[in-house]
Amino acid sequence: MRIDIITVLPELLESPLNHSIVKRAREKKLVEINIINLRDFTSDKYRSVDDYAFGGGAGMVMMIEPVFRAIEKLKNERDYDEIIYTSPDGEKFNQKMANRLSMNKNLLILAGHYKGVDQRIRDHLITMEISIGDYVLSGGEIPAAAITDAIVRLIPGAISDEQSALSDSFQDDLLAPPVYTRPSEFQGWKVPDILLSGNTGEIEKWRHEQSLERTQKLRPDLSNYE
Ligand code: SAM
Repeated sequence: MRIDIITVLPELLESPLNHSIVKRAREKKLVEINIINLRDFTSDKYRSVDDYAFGGGAGMVMMIEPVFRAIEKLKNERDYDEIIYTSPDGEKFNQKMANRLSMNKNLLILAGHYKGVDQRIRDHLITMEISIGDYVLSGGEIPAAAITDAIVRLIPGAISDEQSALSDSFQDDLLAPPVYTRPSEFQGWKVPDILLSGNTGEIEKWRHEQSLERTQKLRPDLSNYE
């Protein structure tokens, strides 16, 4: 799989995509991630990629030309399954979307900045718009990193124990059960006996019941989760 990310702040993406599971997936060649600096596509002598908004008002807008040039160059090199724009008014990101996107071959993500990108890019080139929640961040880099991380950990082989990803929250519309590690008792706080019993069938049953209980208590809406 290949994920290309267009950004005005490549430095912001370097670290989150160079650690832990994503780093190992890149090393194992399960995913190729390319960070593309939008400023490489501007003809402006100051390398600026923003301009004033038509109609006035506060805030700058990502210019159409550099974004168009960057996307067109990449599209000429390969077919993208989706060209994603990160935006607070996009479709709310969730595990089902991550699962679906993890099955693609080539993804392109445009991280927005300033007041956002010129609407004509969204109208003509973007195929999917994703929000990571109902709040506004300063730029699309953190959303792009979050989306990429959620997708990459689902690629077969990215996590050494594949069951681990499958038992995460939101797979099967359930929250994950509680987890414990050694010591089995700390300051009088005990690990549930069942987890020390060695009875794998009963442990699985207990975990499932805990997942159901947690979901009903904390996220009853998940049964209608799309
Ligand atoms: N004026 C925009 C609005 O009110 O919708 C917000 C612009 S925000 C300061 C700059 C960029 O950050 C956005 O274009 C988008 O790419 C990204 N961004 C901010 N919050 C986001 C969120 N919750 N989900 C996805 N992207 C977000």
